[in-house]
Amino acid sequence: MSRSGEGDDNSMPEDLTQTEPETTTNGPSRDTPAGLAHLEVASRDATVGTPRTHIFEASNVEVAYGGKPAVTDVNIGLAEHEITALIGPSGCGKSTFLRCLNRMNDLIPAASVTGSIVYHGHDLYAKNIDPVSVRKRIGMVFQKPNPFPKSIYENIAFGPRVMGMKGNMDEIVESALQRAALWDEVKDRLKTNAFGMSGGQQQRLCIARALATSPDVLLMDEPCSALDPISTGKIEELMVEIKQEYSIVIVTHNMQQAARVSDWTAFFTVDLSAGEANRVGRLVEYNPTEKIFTTPDDERTEQYVTGKFG
Ligand code: ADP
Repeated sequence: MSRSGEGDDNSMPEDLTQTEPETTTNGPSRDTPAGLAHLEVASRDATVGTPRTHIFEASNVEVAYGGKPAVTDVNIGLAEHEITALIGPSGCGKSTFLRCLNRMNDLIPAASVTGSIVYHGHDLYAKNIDPVSVRKRIGMVFQKPNPFPKSIYENIAFGPRVMGMKGNMDEIVESALQRAALWDEVKDRLKTNAFGMSGGQQQRLCIARALATSPDVLLMDEPCSALDPISTGKIEELMVEIKQEYSIVIVTHNMQQAARVSDWTAFFTVDLSAGEANRVGRLVEYNPTEKIFTTPDDERTEQYVTGKFG
């Protein structure tokens, strides 16, 4: 795979579903380490051996900046209607990998992506794939809320309008705000500037804006790191509610958050022994969240989730 330019104008093929059963890595069985007991892990359906439909298959993915690899050898299948958390110490390439999933790295001139990412059975980086339509199907929410300097209504209506979406715009706006659990708070001030909203509301507005173009996947890069605990709780509730309709991949530094909301967790790390100049991120372990936080397969995961490093 290589990056193709923004000029490719074929749109994504429409019917792309691929079903593939998946089982967890069969690592050595271990008892829950004492240090893991403090994390409350929500009980969920993601159990060993449960068939899952993969929406993304990443194989041997490496991203380099200016020729220097930042993350390498990523092999992972991400499933539909799940929340997948990417965790790991700062600088291990979580955000870099996340950006591969909707070709956002194309927008960073120094970045080069190699390996393969298959989305619904299609090579996401094939020449005939249009990165702009990829980003409509695979929306993204960033660390800091970034509403447009426009009214609440216009923030939501912008994407559907640009896309030429058919239908009543008032209904499209209301529906997106409802899905982002924001409608009741803003329905009487839709024409006011989005900058007048609280940080938590602005982030839910950005989620609503991403949902307004009817995406398939929502990528979230530390969406709560700038928010207070109450706003964070609202976003987490929202994520769990909407995963029936969307697939969500979230980068988070907050392990409690990963434990609370995600179904599967991928732990990345950097090999510090290689020296600063050769630092490169790698995926260490990918398992159901409950397993990652109770009986992880890899000692490095255990050390990270118990707070021994990172
Ligand atoms: P994480 O999300 O795990 O904190 P990042 O993906 O942000 O890690 O960064 C991984 C590595 O790639 C870091 O060494 C970082 O400095 C480098 N990096 C990230 N973005 C860029 C960029 N735009 N240009 C150059 N290097 C980058």
